[in-house]
Amino acid sequence: SEAADAHVPWRIASADKEELAWQVSLMGELSAAILERQIEVVYQPKLDIAAGTISSLEALVRWRHPVRGYLRPDVFIPMAEENDRILGLTLCVLERVLCDLRQWMMEGRVVKAAVNISATLVASRAFADEVKSLLANSQVPTSQLIFEITESATISNPKEAVAALIEFRDMGIAISMDDYGTGQSTLTYLRDLPLSELKIDRSFVQHAHINPNDAVLVRSTVDLAHKLGLKVVAEGVEDEGCLDFLRTIGCDMAQGYLIAKPSPRAMALEINAKLAA
Ligand code: C2E
Ligand code: CA
Ligand code: CA
Ligand code: CA
Repeated sequence: SEAADAHVPWRIASADKEELAWQVSLMGELSAAILERQIEVVYQPKLDIAAGTISSLEALVRWRHPVRGYLRPDVFIPMAEENDRILGLTLCVLERVLCDLRQWMMEGRVVKAAVNISATLVASRAFADEVKSLLANSQVPTSQLIFEITESATISNPKEAVAALIEFRDMGIAISMDDYGTGQSTLTYLRDLPLSELKIDRSFVQHAHINPNDAVLVRSTVDLAHKLGLKVVAEGVEDEGCLDFLRTIGCDMAQGYLIAKPSPRAMALEINAKLAA
């Protein structure tokens, strides 16, 4: 039990050690995983609420580890951010996404795709240069790309980050602020970043149709974003009542299990038939 553990510090220390060892070996395996194509991308659509169509797809990374199983990003992204592995991983995801977009184009389907970019990476010169060369070598128009900047980590070099984001915006990439409401310098970001989209975090959205406080926060965020000329995505939409509420308040897009779970490329453009009808 917890109370018992509190009196046995060595146990906690040994658990920490195990955790650390696990992390160190996992990070050691990441470069090989990229080369050996264990890194996969699944897609989750954003529904255009008024039109009832898919407006874009968010790319979410998965690691098909030969021994540890199918790993969700929460298990390895934070570590990769701390260990300077996030650059290689993000470029791997971006390459895969560009390849999938090209494939869809060849099938006659024009879609936009969003890639998650850690705040820690935004100000990196190496990242900006790699993005430029990847895009120059792909036949995908930059207007089909969205970068979702997650607010969870504070942006380390705000000036450099703003400059880099402006550079991406000028290349034609749309910039989206992810997990809005959970970060720290929210208003500064709204003022300074060249955003075109804002994603309201799932924790506010999930119960917005039944919790009056959440409803107020979501509604005011939508109004605020619209006044700033931004499109709004509500994430974590899990039931019809919630989607109805979002429609009522004029939220632009919805994403969540109600519409579709993240799925492999082949199924990514299918949404819940009820919504499409
Ligand atoms: P996120 O960007 O907020 O992505 C949404 C997460 O919520 C995804 O988890 C998705 O599967 C989950 N989700 C979607 N709809 C629902 C819903 O209706 N209900 C619930 N309960 N959950 C829902 P996932 O794929 O495990 O991703 C976790 C986080 O990992 C992402 O959060 C994102 O911050 C990060 N991440 C994912 N892929 C990448 C990547 O390629 N690069 C970076 N830097 N971060 C990534
Ligand atoms: Ca995201
Ligand atoms: Ca999010
Ligand atoms: Ca979130």
